This record gives sequence, structure tokens and C-alpha cells, in this order.
Amino acid sequence: MKIGIIGAGLAGLTCAWYLKKNGIDNIVIFEASDRAGGKLKTDILEDYQLDRGFQVLLPAYPETRKVLDYEKLQLQKFAKGSLIYKKERIIPFYDLENGLIPILKTAIFGPGSLLDKLKIFILKLKSSFIKVNDIFKKSSQLSSMGYLRQKGFSYKMIEEFWKPFYQGVFLENNLDTDSKMLQFTFKMFSEAGAAVPKAGMEAIPKQLVEYIGNDKIKTNSKVVKYTKNSITLDHEVTEGFDYVILACTTTESTSYNVVTNMYFEADKLPVNTKHVILNANDNRVVNNVVLLSNVAPSYSNGKHLISVSANGIHPNESSFLMDLRKMFGEEVLTWRHLKTYVIKDALPMINYQIPYKPKSPDGVYRCGDYLLQASINGAMQSGRLVAEAILKTK
Ligand SMILES: Cc1cc2nc3c(=O)[nH]c(=O)nc-3n(C[C@H](O)[C@H](O)[C@H](O)COP(=O)(O)OP(=O)(O)OC[C@H]3O[C@@H](n4cnc5c(N)ncnc54)[C@H](O)[C@@H]3O)c2cc1C
Repeated sequence: MKIGIIGAGLAGLTCAWYLKKNGIDNIVIFEASDRAGGKLKTDILEDYQLDRGFQVLLPAYPETRKVLDYEKLQLQKFAKGSLIYKKERIIPFYDLENGLIPILKTAIFGPGSLLDKLKIFILKLKSSFIKVNDIFKKSSQLSSMGYLRQKGFSYKMIEEFWKPFYQGVFLENNLDTDSKMLQFTFKMFSEAGAAVPKAGMEAIPKQLVEYIGNDKIKTNSKVVKYTKNSITLDHEVTEGFDYVILACTTTESTSYNVVTNMYFEADKLPVNTKHVILNANDNRVVNNVVLLSNVAPSYSNGKHLISVSANGIHPNESSFLMDLRKMFGEEVLTWRHLKTYVIKDALPMINYQIPYKPKSPDGVYRCGDYLLQASINGAMQSGRLVAEAILKTK
């Protein structure tokens, strides 16, 4: 059985991983770019590890747990919770795991009212009993903002915590994303927090490639045409296959949320934390600031590496620096700008009401985050489901 896969992102690689695990080794993966990994790439600049866009792995993801060897990835964990900057205040929002004193501080000085914090605690408790599949089975179509209002969170809590936090997760400012994604990610964050591999996010696809075999991947091979049994490259070579899997999107059919991510080098940290720092100031551009080298020292060459993200396109540093000065004061003027990534196809906007089918009516199998769920978990799940559908036909 000969299988052709178009795209060496997480979806295509996961599909190949499951096929190989089940004894199918005659696989060719065509990748348009110069290396595998898709949206998970880590560039090396002056000994800094720069992920292309700030991303995290949520170790509780059911799909990554099935496939990845976390020990080999040497996951560097963020502290659970957040530090929220609002005007002159730093609002603590710590997790139970941070200890008793941080929790007391959160109860007294944290975002929203005491009732809001009790509601979050109950939500967290309830989410631990809900199965991931059951979240996505729900037929209701409610935005994340609608869901938070329905749960009775105050305006203050939404403005001080939910909005700044989830604007950085969904990469859109209105929290229009389907509430299933909020419930799912909230459960994942609550269960095991967030982490990055020691060698950067690209270590995730690299681990899959190590198992599949680098010889299976043809890089710089853009596919221009495909049918259920053939793949044609841009230099017009056509190859025949028993099965063809499209593991990438045709961009014209998908809309994306856009994000700008800037990296800075600093001699001194503005605050010593492993929490994600949220910007809750009015009229903000910047969503979140992450002291990456404090969380994962391997990301830096000795000085501090700071990641700053904002939704939309922001090609120059001035709007970022204005927000950063409001948060941390004049010391940000000593930070050295290292690199800006503007990612126009960051997270696909998905209609979660449309059920995912691995095989399309044209006989081509399709996988990718854009079909199932805008996350590492969704990309890998769709890859697994395609592999399982093909294995069933054997
Ligand atoms: C900035 C940013 C932040 C994110 N943050 C998180 C996060 O914190 N947590 C999380 O879980 N998820 C996050 N995500 C989402 C996650 O990275 C993606 O959902 C996932 O990597 C998508 O994998 P994929 O295989 O579906 O698609 P892709 O990674 O897009 O892979 C598709 C591959 O197909 C190739 N390709 C395209 N066209 C062709 C062609 N014609 N011929 C051959 N090859 C082709 C592409 O080059 C690419 O390698 C983030 C994404 C971005 C960009």
C-alpha cells in the first residue's frame, strides 16, 4: 500500500506516525517549505531559540499524550496562573498549586470580585469531571464571551482576566471563538498548565520525524494538483498512490486569526516570574508578555529573552514599546529588539458545528487543524483519524 501525504505539519506527520506504527511504511510526505513542522518552527538567532509565534504545549492534551515522549522533550513548565498589569496595579491571579499565601493574595487582591473567583474555582472543579469528547459533542453554538456572561462573571472579571488571557489564546479580541474551545483549553490549562520543550516548539514535529524517518519527507516539494490516486508537483512530475492525504489547507477556503510576535533581549527582568504576564490596560495593543528565558533558560544565551504578542499586524515596534512602557516603565527602552514575526495564517476560524469526516466525497483524505480544532491537539487528532480510517479499509 503506497500513501502520499501533502504537508509535513503536525497533522500530516501524526497521520504518518500512526500508519507506520500499524505497519504501513510505504509513505511519501511532500512538503512545500524547506523543513517539516508546519506552524511549529524554532529559528536560531544569535544563540536564542525563537519560536515562530509564541506557542505553548498543554501537556494535558489527549492527542499529544498518546504520541509524544514528554521526558525526551524535557518540558519547561510555566507557573500556573497569570500576573495581570492594569494601570499602576499588578493583579495576582495564582493557582492553588502556587501555595497558600499566593492563593490568599489572589482571593484579596486578584481580579474581579470574591464571587468571581469562587465561580472560577467551581468551573475548574467541574471541568475536571467533563470528558473532552463530551465538550465537543455539545450541539449548542455559543461564543466564548456569551458563555462567560451566561456563567455570570462580572464585567470587571471579564475585562481584567478572561479577555486579556483568551485574546492571547484565541488570537482574536472579541472572544467570538466557539465556547467549546474555551471549555476545552480551560480544562487543559487547569489540569497540567503550559510548557515548551527545552529545544523549542519545533522539537515536537522533530520527534515525530525521528520515528517516521527523514527519508520519507520530500522538502521543497510543492504540490499543485492531486486526485485520490495521484499527486503532481510544481515541476509537473506526477506520482501514483493508493491513498492521497491532504494535510494542509488551501488558504482561500479558510480564514485565519492574525498575530504579531516580537522578541526582545533584556539585561534585567522587569519582574521575576514564570507566569504569563497579561496586559489589561484600556486601548492596549499588546496582549501578553512572557519572560521566556525565565521559564526555559535553554531559549537564551545568557541574557533574558522576552516574547511579546499582539493580535493583528504590527510591523514596527513603536506601538509595542508604548504599551510595554506603561507596564514596566522606562527600562523597556534598554531592551534590544531581536525579531518580529507577523503570522497571517495563525489560527483557523472554525465552525465547530460542522462534523469532521476524514474522507471527502472526491476520495481524498483530509486532515489539519482547520478541519477539527485550532490547536496542536486538533491537528494531531485529525491526523490520527485519517490514519485510522485508512487502516480500516485494509
Ligand atoms: C502563532 C501561533 C500560535 C499558536 N499557539 C498555539 C498554542 O499555544 N497551542 C496550541 O495547541 N496550538 C497553537 N497554535 C496552533 C498550532 O500550531 C496549529 O494548530 C498546528 O501546528 C497546525 O498543524 P497542521 O498540520 O494542521 O497545519 P500546518 O502546520 O499549517 O501544516 C501544513 C503543512 O503543509 C505544507 N503545505 C502547504 N501547502 C502545501 C502544498 N501545496 N504542497 C506541499 N506542502 C504544503 C505547509 O508548508 C505546512 O508545513 C498556534 C499557531 C500559531 C501560528
